[in-house]
Amino acid sequence: LWSIEEVGLFTSQVHSQFQQPFVLEDKKYQMAVSIGVSIYPDDAQTIEMFMRHADVAMFKAKSEGRNRTSFFSDELEQQIIHRHQLELLLRETLTNQQLQVYYQPKLCLETGKLLGAEALARMQNHQGQWVSPIEFIPLAEETGLIGELGQQVLRQACKECLSWQQLGNQVPVSVNIAAAQFADPLLVKQISSLMTELQMPARLLELEVTESALMLDVSKTQSMLSQLKAAGICISIDDFGTGYSSLSYLKKFQVDVLKIDKSFVQEMLTDRGDMEIVKAVISLAKSMNLQLIAEGIELEAQKDKLLELGCQMGQGYFFSKP
Ligand code: C2E
Ligand code: CA
Ligand code: CA
Repeated sequence: LWSIEEVGLFTSQVHSQFQQPFVLEDKKYQMAVSIGVSIYPDDAQTIEMFMRHADVAMFKAKSEGRNRTSFFSDELEQQIIHRHQLELLLRETLTNQQLQVYYQPKLCLETGKLLGAEALARMQNHQGQWVSPIEFIPLAEETGLIGELGQQVLRQACKECLSWQQLGNQVPVSVNIAAAQFADPLLVKQISSLMTELQMPARLLELEVTESALMLDVSKTQSMLSQLKAAGICISIDDFGTGYSSLSYLKKFQVDVLKIDKSFVQEMLTDRGDMEIVKAVISLAKSMNLQLIAEGIELEAQKDKLLELGCQMGQGYFFSKP
């Protein structure tokens, strides 16, 4: 019978053994070890439950970056159940085409003229409550459902945009593209065949890609983006300033728009550092001849300051929620 301390000691010995690389035919191999621990009978009454709990703990060790030990807990069990239910809900929503898309206007800060709209995915649970995309988008990425989700949002957004056009409003629509979507080599083809099918003019579509997504696989992303750009689609970098893209990449990717992240906009009037970042992004956009938009504007004072600094375009609750 081992105490928890002894289990901890044992697993740290295992980890330290695996710190050394294995040499096989002159090549060195490093192996990452993720350990999940469940204690019997404290954590489980049956052997099946015991094994499952150890597995859940190991899953956590992997998701926290591997090469570590994780102990089972009730809280962990609850998280897993919640995640599983969310996955079922997401699958069901996509199968039944029940995903909804809301639109948030992008405006000229000076005149208030409507310049575009961002498509944002919305999902409801069985009780009719909204589940935040901050929860279900990462899950969709992890489970591989993001491809289907992205297609459904894109199709709805393009159709909506075309209906605005029929009413006489030429308002471009922006669609968010998740990092995981760039892993799909068919992405560009899917987008262009949808545009052909719907007869959607490329100038009415903009794609928002986060800075961190761009940096995942630089050469692959670059080639995909240049194909999209060649098709006439506008590319903007979302959450700009929160990642760590270098200026040379910015040039390489040939993006059209920088989107100042809302975290800077929200603090710019109260935090000197954030104000400096906003100023730096604005001057960067000017010197690289890029369009600029600020997101998350909640106050008139933020809008006024952004205009004064030379940012002409914005979106946020101050004007309208999605
Ligand atoms: P994001 O692309 O940065 O979208 C902006 C988020 O800020 C939206 O949250 C929007 O509702 C919110 N927002 C807009 N104005 C304000 C404001 O003035 N104040 C505050 N506090 N928030 C504001 P939402 O709709 O919850 O979406 C969250 C994130 O989920 C998005 O962040 C985006 O990364 C992701 N997402 C949403 N829809 C999609 C989608 O269709 N595809 C992909 N790949 N990601 C999506
Ligand atoms: Ca966005
Ligand atoms: Ca953003």
